[in-house]
Amino acid sequence: MNNLLRTLVYDGQVSLTVAETTELVKDGIRFHGLSNLSAYVFGKALSAMTYMSACLKGETGEISLSVKSDGACGEIAVSGNQKLYLRGYIGETCAQGEPNAQSEQDCFGRNGSLTVIRDDGYSRPFVGSCALPNQGGVDAAFEEYYRISEQLPTRLRTIVEFDEQGKCVFAGVIAAQPLPFADRETLDKTWALPLEELLSEFRKTGLAAGVEARFGKDGQVWETRKATYRCNCSREYLKGVLVTLGEEQMRQIIRDDGAVRVHCHYCNTDYEFTDADADVMFPKKKS
Ligand SMILES: [Zn+2]
Repeated sequence: MNNLLRTLVYDGQVSLTVAETTELVKDGIRFHGLSNLSAYVFGKALSAMTYMSACLKGETGEISLSVKSDGACGEIAVSGNQKLYLRGYIGETCAQGEPNAQSEQDCFGRNGSLTVIRDDGYSRPFVGSCALPNQGGVDAAFEEYYRISEQLPTRLRTIVEFDEQGKCVFAGVIAAQPLPFADRETLDKTWALPLEELLSEFRKTGLAAGVEARFGKDGQVWETRKATYRCNCSREYLKGVLVTLGEEQMRQIIRDDGAVRVHCHYCNTDYEFTDADADVMFPKKKS
């Protein structure tokens, strides 16, 4: 089912994106076995990146985010592509504490940087970064990135909610980005939008019905898509990487360690390659 909606509101002056990211955040939590607090921070970053991925233009576009900070969660990396396949990892998978604004900031960090590499598939990738603001958590960091690095002031809110048993029951993102020609009145209205309240409302009504009831339906731009958690690693892909090691080195590692072991940080999958794989990867030349 499609879980992301993009449209224009306020007479086509503001781009609005809403996404329900519950399933993809739950997949991320499951892949990495995250504690609630780690899941909270990671889920927010995944949701915000879902929005960023939906903004990619080219057909082969990709975007990657990395946060390096003094926070308890360590490094956070999330990538997405034009197909809205999201994946990522978080350094500390077992951060302890209740998920709230304070603990989010402690985990996410107060000193550090957020770097984005965006490849729209056309020419050279765009690299932008900003210093982390020392309050406002994940959402504020993304807003800061848009303001400083893209010079496109954007409002963004993410929600990740758990039930009493600690199970993620809802995740989502809402972002409003005024287009360059937006007038003063529209900008004021956009900055005043109660984004979290709207997202909670759309959660009950469904995204499309909720947005239409609040803002009307734009005749030109009304796009729904599906975002999922999906890693692009595979045995075949990794074999392609290992071939570049060369046969000698690969056989040596297998002799020393029993196998070539590769771990994918994004989906927490272990791969093992043995002599049988090497035989296929490096076929004997006929003499
Ligand atoms: Zn993977």
